[in-house]
Amino acid sequence: MERRTLLGRLSWQLGEVVATRPETARTKSITLDLPGWRGHRAGQHVDVRLTAEDGYRAERSYSIASPPEEAPRVTLTVERLDDGEVSPYLTEELRVGDKLELRGPIGGYFVWEAEMGGPLLLVAGGSGIVPLMAMLRHRAAAESTVATRLLYSSRSLEEVIYRDELDRLVKRSAMLAVAQTLTRAQPPGWTGYSRRIDLQMLREVAWPVAQRPLTFVCGPTPFVETAAAILVELGHEPARIKTERFGPTGEKHDGE
Ligand SMILES: Cc1cc2nc3c(=O)[nH]c(=O)nc-3n(C[C@H](O)[C@H](O)[C@H](O)COP(=O)(O)OP(=O)(O)OC[C@H]3O[C@@H](n4cnc5c(N)ncnc54)[C@H](O)[C@@H]3O)c2cc1C
Repeated sequence: MERRTLLGRLSWQLGEVVATRPETARTKSITLDLPGWRGHRAGQHVDVRLTAEDGYRAERSYSIASPPEEAPRVTLTVERLDDGEVSPYLTEELRVGDKLELRGPIGGYFVWEAEMGGPLLLVAGGSGIVPLMAMLRHRAAAESTVATRLLYSSRSLEEVIYRDELDRLVKRSAMLAVAQTLTRAQPPGWTGYSRRIDLQMLREVAWPVAQRPLTFVCGPTPFVETAAAILVELGHEPARIKTERFGPTGEKHDGE
């Protein structure tokens, strides 16, 4: 469906900020209460709209981090870009009790529901973990035992979003494995990967091609393109590799 047609049907609604939580030095989770929320599926996003006093408006897309099971509460996790227009406001200025205008849920392609099965391969770069976290949280809430592997690339340990929660999810589910790579700085004794995602790493972490995993890749555009190209090179079916690019809003991304 045309994005314009779809968005025409979605109306803007006001959510009240009921909680905020720093995840890392640069990222914050914002939980909104949305009384009119029609529910969402893990992997979908919303558009957020800010209006200045002079009427100037800026709109950006943010993935939903919370699972459908938490509706009508919806949590977003936003990374602050220092020279950005919207993300510094959301991470630094927005307070509990404030109202935020948004519309959604948007996107029917980059979604996973427990009934879709697996095995599941999730590949995240930086804040690209957000929609994949919604999938992992949904998997846990639905008590799904779908065999799942996450490969998560961050610059440093301090920049790993949801670090403790990922550890807890792994402890809770024998069918979930998380592999991490830290591309810029590694703490002493680090046992994970220490480089950008490459063919050898994906060969080691991804499910064997014969198991026909369902794959979701999310992150900055170059990260997503590299990871998806490697997976295809390894022999994975392109139709089972779904991608979401967190480029600047307005740029074309899959799922629209
Ligand atoms: C479907 C979708 C889902 C998204 N989900 C999330 C999410 O869950 N969490 C999140 O933090 N962001 C997410 N984004 C990115 C988000 O929409 C904004 O692009 C981001 O917050 C920057 O907005 P800004 O107004 O602060 O910066 P802008 O004023 O738009 O840009 C400031 C500068 O940063 C560059 N820039 C803009 N966006 C990015 C980016 N994503 N990465 C690197 N450089 C960039 C611009 O080119 C510019 O130089 C998502 C994007 C899409 C398309």
